[in-house]
Amino acid sequence: MTTARGSTARPEQDATGPAEHGGASYGGPPTDHADESAAADQAGVTPLPLEIPDRGVLEGLDPEQRAAAGAADGPLLVVAGPGTGKTRTLTHRVAYLVAERGVPAESCLAITFTRRAAAELAERLAALLPSGRGEPFVATFHALALTICREQYALLGFAGPPSVADDADRAAVLAELDVPMDKPVPDELREGFRKRLRARGLLELDELVPLAVSVLEPGSAASYRDRWPHVLVDEYQDVDADQYALLRALVPTDGNLFAIGDPDQSIYSFRGADVGFFLRFASDYPTATTVTLTRNYRSAPPIVAAAVQIVRPGTLVPGRGLSAERRDLGAARLAVHRVATEAEEAGWVAATIDALVGGSSFHSLDSGRVDGSDEVEVPTGFADIAVLYRTDAQSRTLQSAFTSAGLPFQKRGIDRLADRPGVPAVLRELVHHPGPVVSRLRAAGEALAARVSAPDLFSAEELTLRASDVWSAVELLRPVASASGDDLDGFLAAVATGAEVDALDPRADAVSLLTLHAAKGLEFPVVFLVGCADGVVPLRFPGEDEDERAVREAEERRLFFVGVTRARRRLFLSAARQVTRRGVTSAAALTPFLAPVDEGLLDRTGTAETPRRPAARQMRLI
Ligand code: ATP
Ligand code: MG
Repeated sequence: MTTARGSTARPEQDATGPAEHGGASYGGPPTDHADESAAADQAGVTPLPLEIPDRGVLEGLDPEQRAAAGAADGPLLVVAGPGTGKTRTLTHRVAYLVAERGVPAESCLAITFTRRAAAELAERLAALLPSGRGEPFVATFHALALTICREQYALLGFAGPPSVADDADRAAVLAELDVPMDKPVPDELREGFRKRLRARGLLELDELVPLAVSVLEPGSAASYRDRWPHVLVDEYQDVDADQYALLRALVPTDGNLFAIGDPDQSIYSFRGADVGFFLRFASDYPTATTVTLTRNYRSAPPIVAAAVQIVRPGTLVPGRGLSAERRDLGAARLAVHRVATEAEEAGWVAATIDALVGGSSFHSLDSGRVDGSDEVEVPTGFADIAVLYRTDAQSRTLQSAFTSAGLPFQKRGIDRLADRPGVPAVLRELVHHPGPVVSRLRAAGEALAARVSAPDLFSAEELTLRASDVWSAVELLRPVASASGDDLDGFLAAVATGAEVDALDPRADAVSLLTLHAAKGLEFPVVFLVGCADGVVPLRFPGEDEDERAVREAEERRLFFVGVTRARRRLFLSAARQVTRRGVTSAAALTPFLAPVDEGLLDRTGTAETPRRPAARQMRLI
């Protein structure tokens, strides 16, 4: 395995502005943020110099991003920290292949985990790629697997291309089996349940990827390898065993697999994700090269510094370091606020937000700016602010505090698009209308809204629908429909396999409330991370043995790292002295994950264990 080293390239080459200051480096190789990775040193690999010129489609990327995007053929692993431009690098890789290497766009397969990420990727690619040269295939793992299952339906024993079962289909089969719909299918009935679904030409979401693997293995892989000689995967640290097997089937050992991710942001082991696949890339693909991205373009220097200190005790990236390129974002320390109760904590969050958005200007809250540079991104509204928490239960106290304070907020729910009221009915209706998917959608909305307003035309299934459900379903489906052109099958597959719908409206002027998991990949100028109390972060469960607990706590640390690195300018951490979990109230210390952080990066307020700050300091903050 070969490693790209940044030491041959100087930051001055970087035309991105902030780097002119020279990034402040934290952790890892001391000053030259792009020095060789310790991982590569351990493997005894040869350096790959970063000498790709800053022009053409790669213009505007930094030297490491260019090395990755403009790399020669073969397997490539990009180990990239938070805010280092992973998506940007991946999209430019595709653009480079198409525009400068003459690869047909259709030969590129880009895979992500969520529909939201796939939509964003497709949109960014459309903006970058020359028009009229075809389109890459951008899909979630589920949508890719469904495509393969539909194309290989005969091998799977279907009479025609299968679809994904929706709730109505499942209910019908469960009724045949005498199982109430609100219960999960009992294990002993699962096989029979799936058989009956298949008899109707239907598959369950969970079986798509393993089935796709099963049809590729006996020899169909060759045609897919020819079709997609370039495979790119975002967030590679999140692959599970089935997804890994699918990639192994699609890409030969010396093939063009471009995998990008951050092992330290692997937070989905409870869903089967296994960061081990990332860590063994070099042995799976012995000819692989690797590039490390360490320039953080997202956060103010104290946030970057603290984030590195937080993750290092458990890091999966040897030599983990990040350089803060955005010194213009200010040098405010991280606020750490202690209060007595969770209700008081929620009140403090609401009052601080009120002060940030309302009367006092952001300037007056910015402590310790070093260079006097102009503020470029002063928050002007509630939409700039996110409040993150570990468990959904914590959001209740926050919501009531926000409601009493009259603060607008929106809470992100992770729902499957296909589960939203109105969506299944609109989908069923839409196939009866002609034309591009967007036109079908509009026609379906009109027909269905007319029917639900005229009760005698109701079908049984539509009885509970209101016209407003129909129109909100149409709104939710519109972006997917627009992206699908005339491809009805592709549209239906995208909806059926879309893991979630993003209920967060970026246009709304409201504070975002999200779990740490839901915040992954996002960024906000101001972030509040509440519940930084031992037992909540890390979340502790009774009855875990020591090994289980150690593994889970390592992931909790990574989750905290993900949360901290969402903030661009200001990060407020808070913890109550007593917390209630599952009805039991107990005393709680501050999260141990803050222990490695330099005191100079923190601004402690509230009722400290040993009063460290005079009340005046707290007054200044609020
Ligand atoms: P995460 O791991 O948190 O998902 P990421 O690596 O995907 O982070 P992005 O969200 O792609 O990071 O990028 C973070 C921010 O940095 C974005 O606002 C992006 O526009 C900006 N950025 C990325 N690369 C550069 C660059 N070379 N110059 C200037 N800004 C950049
Ligand atoms: Mg990202």
